[in-house]
Amino acid sequence: MEQAGFGAEEELLATVRRDLDNVESALAKLEEGTYGLCEACGEPLGAERLSSSPAERFCAGHERPPGHPSLDRDSGRAQDVHR
Ligand SMILES: [Zn+2]
Repeated sequence: MEQAGFGAEEELLATVRRDLDNVESALAKLEEGTYGLCEACGEPLGAERLSSSPAERFCAGHERPPGHPSLDRDSGRAQDVHR
C-alpha cells in the first residue's frame, strides 16, 4: 500500500536540510562566540527568540532581507513570522 503524500515527504526533507544548515551554522557560531547575534546587525537576538528558534540567524528586523519581495512570495516559506 502506497503512502499518500510522497511529494510532501520530499518537501519535508528539503525543510529539514535547510534547518540542518541553520543548526550547523549556529554550532559554528557557538564555537566562534557569536551565537545568538544577528548576522546583519550584530545585535543579540534575545533569549525569547532563541528559545523558540535556537538556530535563528537574524533579529526580527532583519529576518527578511528588504528588497527581495519576489523571494518571499514565490517560495511561500512556512516560517511562523507574525510580526
Ligand atoms: Zn539585526
